[in-house]
Amino acid sequence: MEDGKPVWAPHPTDGFQLGMIVDIGADALTIEPLSQRGKTFLAPINQVFPAEDDVNKHVEDNCSLMYLNEATLLNNICVRYSKDLIYTSVANILIAVNPYFDIPKLYSPETIKSYQGRSLGTLPPHVYAIADKAYRDMRVLKMSQSIIVSGESGAGKTENTKFVLRYLTTSYGTCQDIDERIVEANPLLEAFGNAKTVRNNNSSRFGKFVEIHFNEKNAVVGGFVSHYLLEKSRICMQSTEERNYHIFYRLCAGASEDIRNMLHLNSPDNFRYLNRGCTRYFANKDSDKQIMQNRKSPEHGKVGALKDPLLDDLGDFNRMVVAMKKIGLDDTEKLNLFRVVSGVLHLGNIDFEEAGSSSGGCILKNQTSQTLEYCAELLGLDQDDLRVSLTTRVMLTTAGGAKGTVIKVPLKVEQANNARDALAKTIYSRLFDHVVKRVNQCFPFDTSSNFIGVLDIAGFEYFEHNSFEQFCINYCNEKLQQFFNERILKEEQELYQKEGLGVNEVHYVDNQDCIDLVEAKLVGILDILDEENRLPQPSDQHFAEAVHSKHKDHFRLTVPRKSKLTIHRNLRDDEGFIIRHFAGAVCYETTQFVEKNNDALHMSLESLVCESKDKFVRDLFENNSNSKDSKQKAGKLSFISVGNKFKVNLSFSNTFCQRAQILSQLQCSGMVSVLDLMQGGFPSRAPFHELYNMYKQYMPNKLTRLDPRLFCKALFKALGLNKNDYKFGLTRVFFRPGKFAEFDQIMKSDP
Ligand code: ADP
Ligand code: MG
Repeated sequence: MEDGKPVWAPHPTDGFQLGMIVDIGADALTIEPLSQRGKTFLAPINQVFPAEDDVNKHVEDNCSLMYLNEATLLNNICVRYSKDLIYTSVANILIAVNPYFDIPKLYSPETIKSYQGRSLGTLPPHVYAIADKAYRDMRVLKMSQSIIVSGESGAGKTENTKFVLRYLTTSYGTCQDIDERIVEANPLLEAFGNAKTVRNNNSSRFGKFVEIHFNEKNAVVGGFVSHYLLEKSRICMQSTEERNYHIFYRLCAGASEDIRNMLHLNSPDNFRYLNRGCTRYFANKDSDKQIMQNRKSPEHGKVGALKDPLLDDLGDFNRMVVAMKKIGLDDTEKLNLFRVVSGVLHLGNIDFEEAGSSSGGCILKNQTSQTLEYCAELLGLDQDDLRVSLTTRVMLTTAGGAKGTVIKVPLKVEQANNARDALAKTIYSRLFDHVVKRVNQCFPFDTSSNFIGVLDIAGFEYFEHNSFEQFCINYCNEKLQQFFNERILKEEQELYQKEGLGVNEVHYVDNQDCIDLVEAKLVGILDILDEENRLPQPSDQHFAEAVHSKHKDHFRLTVPRKSKLTIHRNLRDDEGFIIRHFAGAVCYETTQFVEKNNDALHMSLESLVCESKDKFVRDLFENNSNSKDSKQKAGKLSFISVGNKFKVNLSFSNTFCQRAQILSQLQCSGMVSVLDLMQGGFPSRAPFHELYNMYKQYMPNKLTRLDPRLFCKALFKALGLNKNDYKFGLTRVFFRPGKFAEFDQIMKSDP
């Protein structure tokens, strides 16, 4: 960087702004912004980056820019986005920007066709190009491949995952039926595992790994879905303007009269598990009225109902039922699912009040209501047993040496509420396990040679209040980041070393210490938490204290009180802790950590549901494994009604590029460190024999008799390539950013 050259300097909302350096100080630069000639400001040297000569130019592979840095990457992405080019590649990594509308033809069957069998980089960057590379690598290397989709909530992970699956099954499937099932499995999973959040109207509240399996001829034979960490707290409680899982509202909106009667269903407003989160929509705002008028279903006209005008629960119910049929669920199975969902809703309506006796226990409030009866009926339980199990707890004592004396301890109102919610969460999450298992049965396969896996899992999360769920998600992302570091950065370095390039070591922040803090044996936070759970009187405060006392001077852990790291509520040290993650510091509030860490129901509830008269309910608790116990097929998951549903996203998103936000996402995802590495390195590379095969047709016979390495040397010499632009390793040539493309162009244009 020098005086008079354009640079990118920090900007508070745009991330960067274009300017000129007018003075160079010891550790700061004086910058004159191009937009405000004559005005200058100071910027730290390490936050100012060289700009390309033409900032309106964009490139498909970011590595072919002259300068690789976070500012040029951001600019490249934004220029492309303004032309509806949402995909950009950085070598083998693909960056996708969520357009929030359907870009014509972007995912059409013709587009799918055009990417089949084409090397990465020969066509514009696209998620299909990544899918095809995975496929070709699997075929050539005879090894399973995985694609990791990562990003913030609402970034487009799940949509892109579906595009990958659709691409693979349509391109390399042989059985239409399997392809279709793989497509239709998704609406079912999403009905039970997705919910409206403030960030995304169809937010996946579970992580998944979908495998598409191929036979020895590399044709699709089936698939398998594994799921992780369904967000259970949502079943009983939602934040303002968020909703419970879609299925609850869809069932209330769409079930036939018969089924509604059978399941004792009515409006969502009448269920505690549904009516405390989402804001009621009254059609008094003009915009809401308009939306409601545009809806065809009678439900949508209802004023004051618990109804999100942006979601079409009735339409979605009908689409879901069609999908269930297509993947082979019969009416009994369908009704089983609906019955348990309704059972959970009625369970949520059971209320308690103090017993008014000296026992200190509680009784059911409003004993004449039919809530208990409905709940017991739908879940195949005995009413009295259910009541007793919710209001008392059985304990085994060994007092006085007597082995296993059973005593019944009455529960306080609050404890009974907790027991009820714990039961609801357990039943629903077992039901979700069942749905995943059932989906897997739709695409069974006997043997497979390899698979392509796609991981779709929540990105790094940082809210105003962060609890156990965020802790788990961020821990998971910390692990993914390490994988990213290792695979991309370390491997790159090692490759340079192995090939004898003599390139300087590349430094990156290793996050192993942060992972250890969470998962180390005995002293890691997870083990400390388990330890707490095993105490006779576990408490969240004691847990937080234990974390702090075990890690007093840990670089990654801070007490909330003293920290200036995050803006958060004024927590006491026994109410939380702050972890410095790779993507930023997050303050976790530890209330409910102990409870959320405990999947077990108290004994009386556990045995109650295990002995249900309803076989389906009993089975949920018997086969509680969520594991891959049988080889099954997965498939391609398509999407049903993206269309109008997500307009709400438009209201807070882009008709313009929100540069500062995009920049922080690029930093959080580790993209920026990849760029640093690449700018200093040799991002394009090609084995000698590949170059030989690619270009021998253009060369005289004399040259082609050389071995591939000598052939390349002679070729480069003959072309007069600049020696700084490439390096010869032991097995391949490495090119500076953009130089391989130049070379390829010379070869092809000038035979
Ligand atoms: P995530 O899984 O990252 O939370 P989603 O994949 O659910 O995010 O995307 C949120 C919403 O954004 C989708 O429901 C869809 O409306 C929109 N969207 C995402 N990617 C695209 C795309 N490539 N084209 C059109 N709309 C998209
Ligand atoms: Mg998602």
